[in-house]
Amino acid sequence: MPDNRPDRSNPEDLIREFDGGDPVELLRWAARRFGKRLALCSSFGPESIVILHMFSRIGAPVRIFTLDTGRLYPETYALMERCEAFFRASIEVFSADPERVREMVSAHGINLFFRSPQLRRLCCEVRKVEPLRRALNGVDAWITGLRRDQSHSRSQVQLVERDDDHGGLIKLNPLADWTEEMVWKYVREEGLPYNELHDKGYRSIGCAPCTRPTGPCNDFRAGRWWWENGSNAKECGIHSYRRPGIE
Ligand code: SF4
Repeated sequence: MPDNRPDRSNPEDLIREFDGGDPVELLRWAARRFGKRLALCSSFGPESIVILHMFSRIGAPVRIFTLDTGRLYPETYALMERCEAFFRASIEVFSADPERVREMVSAHGINLFFRSPQLRRLCCEVRKVEPLRRALNGVDAWITGLRRDQSHSRSQVQLVERDDDHGGLIKLNPLADWTEEMVWKYVREEGLPYNELHDKGYRSIGCAPCTRPTGPCNDFRAGRWWWENGSNAKECGIHSYRRPGIE
C-alpha cells in the first residue's frame, strides 16, 4: 500500500533514490514512492500522451490535470476528450480565476500579450501560472513532458529535480533525454492520439493567439510568442528555466 502522507524527505535524497534512466521505471518508482500525492501535468503535447501511455502500461493510477487558459485551440479541447476516452482517464481541468481575467482584460484588453513582454507574462501568470499553483496544492511530486532539446533554456532539465518555483516539490521529467523523433516514433508505433494541428506544421502547441506553425529547420519552440525577441521569451512561467548568462 502506498503511503499517502505528505513526503517530508529531503528532495536531494529523493533525487539520489532514483538513479535509473528508463522513463517507465521512473514512473513506476514515482507511483510507488508518492502514491496519491503524485500528479501528471498534461498539455496534450505528444510527450504527455507518451507518458499517459506509459502509465497505462504500468497499471498504476495517476492523477492527471491540465491547465485550461481559455485560449486553447478547438483541436486541443477535442484531443483532451479523445484522450479521456482512449486512456479511460478522468482529467482534472484547472482554469484561470474569472475575476482576475476580468480585471486583466478590462485594464489591458483581450489581446494584451501582443503589446509588451510584461503584459504577455501577466496573461501567462493569470491564465497558467496561478492555476498551476492551485493544481499542485497537496502534491509532493509532479510529472512534466519537458525534454532537453526543446529549447536552449531547457538544456539542463533533469530526470528528477527539485522545483524551487513550487516550494521545493519533486519534479519528474521522464522524457528529459528523448528527442522529438523518439517521441513521434513512440506515438506512431503505439497508435496514440495526437493533436491534428501537428499535421499542419505546428510543433509546440500552446494558446491559439500565441502559437503558429514552424518549419523543421527552426527551433522547436520558435512558433511560440514569435513576435518576442530575447532568449528567455519562450517560457510562460510555469517552468522557469533560464538560458545560462541571459536574464
Ligand atoms: S500563451 Fe498567450 S494567451 Fe496563453 S496565457 Fe500566455 S500570453 Fe495568454
